[in-house]
Formats: sequence, structure tokens, C-alpha cells
Amino acid sequence: MVRLLLVEDDESLRLPLKMDLEKAGYAVDEAGSGDEAEYLGNEGLYDLIILDLGLPVKPGLDVLRAWRQKDNTVPVVILTARDDWNQRVLGFKAGADDYVGKPFHVEELLARVRAVIHRSIKQSTGELCVGGLTLDEQNQSVRITDGQKYELTSTEFRLLRYLMLNPGRLLSKSQLMEHVYDFDSDKDSNVIEVYINRLRRKLGKTLIKTYRGQGYVFGERR
Ligand code: CA
Repeated sequence: MVRLLLVEDDESLRLPLKMDLEKAGYAVDEAGSGDEAEYLGNEGLYDLIILDLGLPVKPGLDVLRAWRQKDNTVPVVILTARDDWNQRVLGFKAGADDYVGKPFHVEELLARVRAVIHRSIKQSTGELCVGGLTLDEQNQSVRITDGQKYELTSTEFRLLRYLMLNPGRLLSKSQLMEHVYDFDSDKDSNVIEVYINRLRRKLGKTLIKTYRGQGYVFGERR
């Protein structure tokens, strides 16, 4: 399970955000001050850290610099005021991987968190391993745990990759469409069903479940 550290001193923001992140399938620990964040972030427990910059005891930028000075490369998404470009630049210089401007919609934060995690998985192995499958990004192929390997078309690949990045989440056809096709695509969302069935023929019937009228779930629903 992907484990996140959520660093935010404002409880009225932190608590609902923690619930949203947990709903999205992440395990979430919290920190409310800079010194606590710095300590926890160096424990090596986290796949990603969401870091507010305005923090008591030690500012977020100093916390981030302290991690990077220790060669701690944990992916970090910073939270900054939306119009404060200066903080954003300083954040990137200090080694942030991405930022989200406050106020933000939780879906935006989730999308950025997923993208950063995906990038870091790719950098470390070039492969994505979820639910007994290993997706090879270079060769657009997938291997089942027992060793059987299948080539994928580019549409099958993009669809399976999105499913594997969101295990246990209910994904609607239109959500899948957005991640499989370009934005301007005029394709009917029923094509998703066609591609889901193709993946099932290759990977087995049980891996992707249909929730009638709602969408699809890869693996066990959370
Ligand atoms: Ca704050």
C-alpha cells in the first residue's frame, strides 16, 4: 500500500484531506509542525510527502532543504498560496517534485500525487507492479506473476496503466475515457467496454470487475 505523510498545521484542512486521501486508497500519517515533519520524513517510510510551506517551528522550505541535504529523495508535493510564484520557485529549487496552489480542489491534488508517484516508480524500476501484474512501460507489455507475457496495443496499455495506478478504486467509463484518449476525442464511451473485455481475455476474467451503471474496479474494491 502506498504510504503518504501529510504535513499541514491547519487542522480544518488536514483532517478532511486525510479522509479524502484515505478514500483514494492511500495510507496517511500526519504532521502538524516543521520539526515533526522533518523527523518523520527521514524515517524512510513514505512513498510521497505532501508539504505545506507555512508551518510552525520550522518553515516547510527549510524542512524540504534539510531532507535534500541528507540525500533524502522522497517525492514531495508542496502546498503554496495559488498566486505566490516566488514560493513556488523557491520550492522547486529546494527540490519539490510538484506543487498545488491553495485553495485547491482535492481532485487536483490527487491527480498530482498519482502522477508524481507514477514518475518515481518509473524512475526506480521502469515497471509498474500491482495486483499480480507487472507492466513494462518501455515495451508496452504486461507479465502475469506466473511468467506469461502479453503484448498490448497502445490503447490497451494506457487503459491498463490507469487501472493499475488506481487499484481498488471505482472508475467510471468517462474517467477512463479521459485517461485513455486525448481530450478532444469524440469516441463513444462504450469503446471502454470493448477494451476492458480485451484485457480480460488476456489477463483473466476476475481481475477487472464491472459495477453495472457505475464503472470498473481493478482488484479488490476498497
Ligand atoms: Ca499552514
